[in-house]
Amino acid sequence: MQIENNKVVSFLYHLRDAEGTALEESEPGLPLAYLHGHNNLLPALEEALTGRSAGDRFSVTLPPEKAYGPLVPGKTQRIPIKHIVNPPKRLLPDMIIHVQTEQGPIPAKVIKVGKFMVDVDLNHPFAGKTLEFQVEVVSVRDATEDEIAHGHAHGDGGHHH
Ligand code: ZN
Repeated sequence: MQIENNKVVSFLYHLRDAEGTALEESEPGLPLAYLHGHNNLLPALEEALTGRSAGDRFSVTLPPEKAYGPLVPGKTQRIPIKHIVNPPKRLLPDMIIHVQTEQGPIPAKVIKVGKFMVDVDLNHPFAGKTLEFQVEVVSVRDATEDEIAHGHAHGDGGHHH
């Protein structure tokens, strides 16, 4: 079965930047499941997955404009520490944290830590980076009507309600 719209795809991945630094990876043996064609992944990554089937391995390199966009200067903001979602015991520069906003939590990078306030860079942590995804497709199946109505995958590696 090939990957196309309204298929639920589970896959394992490793993500590196252009210098080969590991940025992120799926947990070993725990593939991520998503519903294809519903904007659940970066569009360029979905495009690279289209037409693949279970067992396929490939890598795809995405320049910043096809990934998380360029690094925008001046996106530093001073926020109260209490606006950080599940703050770690000790905040340190360069840590990636999530800031609670009216639109929900967004990732940010810690620049400077004060007593009650913290300076954060609100660029996406991967902004300005060329990303290389190494992907292994684990399984492809038809989505259920519920999944298509919700716009996401259910079950292992997907959404739980
Ligand atoms: Zn759902």
